[in-house]
Amino acid sequence: MQKDQLFTRRRMLLAGAAALGSAGTAGIVLAEGGEETARSAPAPVAGPQARQALKPSAFRLQPLTGYGPPRTAPRKLKVRRKPILEISRSGRRMMLTFDDGPNPDYTPHILDTLAKYDVRAMFFVCGECVAVNRELVARMADEGHVVGNHTWTHPLLTTLGRKEIRSEMERTSDIIEDTYGERPQWFRAPYGAWNKAAFQLGAAMGMEPMAWTVDTTDWMEPGVDTIIDQVESGAAPGVVVLSHDAGGDRSQTVRAIREWLPYLIDSGYHLTVPSRRI
Ligand SMILES: [Zn+2]
Repeated sequence: MQKDQLFTRRRMLLAGAAALGSAGTAGIVLAEGGEETARSAPAPVAGPQARQALKPSAFRLQPLTGYGPPRTAPRKLKVRRKPILEISRSGRRMMLTFDDGPNPDYTPHILDTLAKYDVRAMFFVCGECVAVNRELVARMADEGHVVGNHTWTHPLLTTLGRKEIRSEMERTSDIIEDTYGERPQWFRAPYGAWNKAAFQLGAAMGMEPMAWTVDTTDWMEPGVDTIIDQVESGAAPGVVVLSHDAGGDRSQTVRAIREWLPYLIDSGYHLTVPSRRI
């Protein structure tokens, strides 16, 4: 292929990525007291959005830089005072999120179930888990999932100094970029324990704070039936569901999603992720 033909092809991919980005972020609504920035789409960059038009094997051969802003340039975001708690209720949308992984014992089974039903989800990963399970993050990218930053070691941020918080977040964004293909645009504080530094640093790094609406309580290992009931009774338009694919024995989580995911689909919910396809 001639060089100029390649350039034309990449421009077309970027145009498609911009359209997808606009559609995806338009669905985010804000927690009370939040700022307005989440409704604006990020600048289009070559990344996982662009790769949707390519087979995974072809994507690996594509250069990712050269047009538009550098991939590493963070969006300029206003500093929020509260995290985002839910997404748009239109179209009976819900969003699934999985924290603390990736983990080789559980994450592949969850990815298999999501693939079976052609559903995309968000994975808030810890850097130290990514470091030893890089191939699972690459699989998330190839299968269209969105990866967010959940710090390196999962500390309680409210007990740390600003320098330590910055290190926890920055190292994790670095390894996500290296394994996933772009820097994360979403951050979730461990234990849902947010503070001013986390909001400020996250915004400076181009990440929006994402919390959740419904906790499956799977981290308490309450039994498969309880987890299923938490999801099914909490299901509603706009709800963000919190599950965990690591951090303990998550076999109940793995079994429960095989039940509650088809239930949500049969109930007419549209399971979506921000920024990527919706
Ligand atoms: Zn966590």
